[in-house]
Amino acid sequence: KEKPSLDVMLLAQEIIAGNHTALSKGITLVESTVVKHQEQAQLLIEKCLPHANQSIRIGITGVPGVGKSTFIESFGSYLTTLGKKVAVLAVDPSSSLSHGSILGDKTRMDTLSQNKNAFIRPSASGDSLGGVARKTREAIILCEAAGFDTIIIETVGVGQSETVVHSMVDFFLLLKLAGAGDELQGIKRGIIEMADAIVINKADGENEKPARLAKAAFAKALHLYPPKDSQWTPKVRTCSALKHKGISEIWELIVSYKDLTQENRYFTRKRHEQNTYWLLQTIENSLKENFYRDPHVKKRLPILLEQLSKNRISPFSAARELLSLKKE
Ligand code: GDP
Repeated sequence: KEKPSLDVMLLAQEIIAGNHTALSKGITLVESTVVKHQEQAQLLIEKCLPHANQSIRIGITGVPGVGKSTFIESFGSYLTTLGKKVAVLAVDPSSSLSHGSILGDKTRMDTLSQNKNAFIRPSASGDSLGGVARKTREAIILCEAAGFDTIIIETVGVGQSETVVHSMVDFFLLLKLAGAGDELQGIKRGIIEMADAIVINKADGENEKPARLAKAAFAKALHLYPPKDSQWTPKVRTCSALKHKGISEIWELIVSYKDLTQENRYFTRKRHEQNTYWLLQTIENSLKENFYRDPHVKKRLPILLEQLSKNRISPFSAARELLSLKKE
């Protein structure tokens, strides 16, 4: 087996020393699809893992325009005044298609991106949510090793991306706007169950009153959901990311969540469960990738699909044939 290259060891040391440029390089390595880079990335992660600190990982979702980047800018800047080190990552499987990735445009978080206690990284590109998610999951480890104690993961909620982000964070925050009465309308199924907090943004000016009404409506709706394993009751708050109002209250909420779940041990249990999930997920993905990469499979699959479309073969026997091809 090849000896670990010195570069990776050095890179790990620099990351652990808190060097942002090294951290960026490390994440680029993690995101690379080159097989050699992937091997180096695994080694890097291994070296960094023992140095991952006590962090809180916060997921933030909401439709485009709700104010995610304004919120993260305000919230993140506030946290740095408390002495926190804030890393912002994103899961946006659409970014490679639209080229308009969230966080892609760093000017959106101007103040925060220039803050030396903050690190902002746009979403990894990739054609599958699974791939993007894995890279983000690994980037979290590198950020933590570099001393970041507050990790924010932003997502726009395309497809299953909220579920995926939920599976890598401790606390999940849903940003909403005050609507026209029926607050729950238009919310994707399952999102409410995932949320540890619902925050009505843009509660400023004329919007203050509708925001208060929306808060009451959400609070009422949340009562209808069964209690969570965490024993945490999801909270509803209003804020103005633009005017920096209600931001500290949201942090206090997260601190009380952390206190509660560390005391009842849910915090650690959830992280263990997430690790198990990611291990199994990684195995599944790599089995699948290997299978479809196999030249015999590549050649035979379209032929069998063709036969299937003409009803000449059953899907089961076609699958069986392809699976046995792979073994040879
Ligand atoms: P994102 O697409 O969810 O990241 O949303 P942005 O952060 O880009 O915000 C979308 C628009 O809403 C921008 O024009 C912001 O200035 C505006 N916005 C964000 N937060 C607030 C807020 O608290 N109050 C008001 N009035 N406008 C806001």
